[in-house]
Amino acid sequence: RKLGYAIVGLGSYATRQIMPQFANCKHSRLVALVSGTPEKLARYGAEYGIPARNRYSYASFDTIRDNPEIDIVYVVLPNSLHAEYVVRAAQAGKHVMCEKPMATSVAEARTMIGACRKAKRLLMIGYRSRFEPYNRLAIELARSGHVGPTRIITAEHGFDAKPGQWRLDRPLSGGGSLMDIGIYSLNAARYLAGEEPVQVSAIESTDRTDPRFRTVEDRIDFMLRFPSGVIANCVSSYSSNHNGYRVIGTKGYIDMEPATPYEGQRMMIRKDGQTTPRVLASTGPNQFVGQLDHLSECVKTGRTPIVPGEEGLADMRVIEAIYRAAREGRTVTLDAA
Ligand code: NAD
Repeated sequence: RKLGYAIVGLGSYATRQIMPQFANCKHSRLVALVSGTPEKLARYGAEYGIPARNRYSYASFDTIRDNPEIDIVYVVLPNSLHAEYVVRAAQAGKHVMCEKPMATSVAEARTMIGACRKAKRLLMIGYRSRFEPYNRLAIELARSGHVGPTRIITAEHGFDAKPGQWRLDRPLSGGGSLMDIGIYSLNAARYLAGEEPVQVSAIESTDRTDPRFRTVEDRIDFMLRFPSGVIANCVSSYSSNHNGYRVIGTKGYIDMEPATPYEGQRMMIRKDGQTTPRVLASTGPNQFVGQLDHLSECVKTGRTPIVPGEEGLADMRVIEAIYRAAREGRTVTLDAA
């Protein structure tokens, strides 16, 4: 049978990107909605054929424990609400998918992992790029030394943030561009290197007279050193528009631009002086379907997701180190995980 998902938070990402994809899933279906806005419950409930008994408010959320149709809860709320709803979902006996960034601190991430472990439920983070065919190929090529052993990774992610949204309000976001979009640079650096950074340095550059950046950072550039000697140079920005990475080895480089959007990835490989686009013939399920069905299959088989809570925690550790490095103006050494 297809496993039943409950979506928590009917905002832009949930309603425009995730919910329409259940129609393409093999192992997952949408069975319940959770929202604080009755009009949204009525509208999306009607659109997706969700019966009234499976429409929940935040106040009635905990009663999902009595609903056997719900196997998995997908938390798509502002960042600072992730921890609370992941813990409550686990306590209601449900498996959990949680959006990135997993949390706003390492401490919260640990609490979330602990709650799911205690309830014997799976926790997966919504790192959709790990299910996107070009990113999967980039990982394979980078780790197999297609352009020689990796020496340098560059990763840049940014967009021009619109004013007046929760992303720019630290109590809800936990931080600025790094929490929201720079995390794609960080996560890519880690999945392309295939190891955990041991040193971090960073410089923040924010125009505090810009009303968007009263409580959160705009630009924060960071450098990661990995145990193998690979260095990653990363950009995170709320005032410039770009999305890409490059893996540079001794024989050339693998270029992805754009690298992590919802669609339209493009790969170019430069090797031994020749530049060729790499186009995939059959791309299989898209990244959203891949992500949703992966957790369902893990629940059915008892396997651990490829992006479990620990993957979100690994990013949170480095994010805290990046902020500390920028604040204190020094290189921060990370302890072994
Ligand atoms: P959004 O503002 O469009 O949606 C957030 C929803 O949360 C809204 O429906 C809002 O009503 C609801 N909400 C509930 N309690 C709230 C409160 N106290 N304050 C504000 N809103 C509240 O945001 P979004 O872009 O859908 O982002 C939601 C989550 O999804 C974030 O964690 C974000 O990082 C993540 N996201 C991930 C991707 C991705 O590609 N993986 C893309 C976009 C967003």
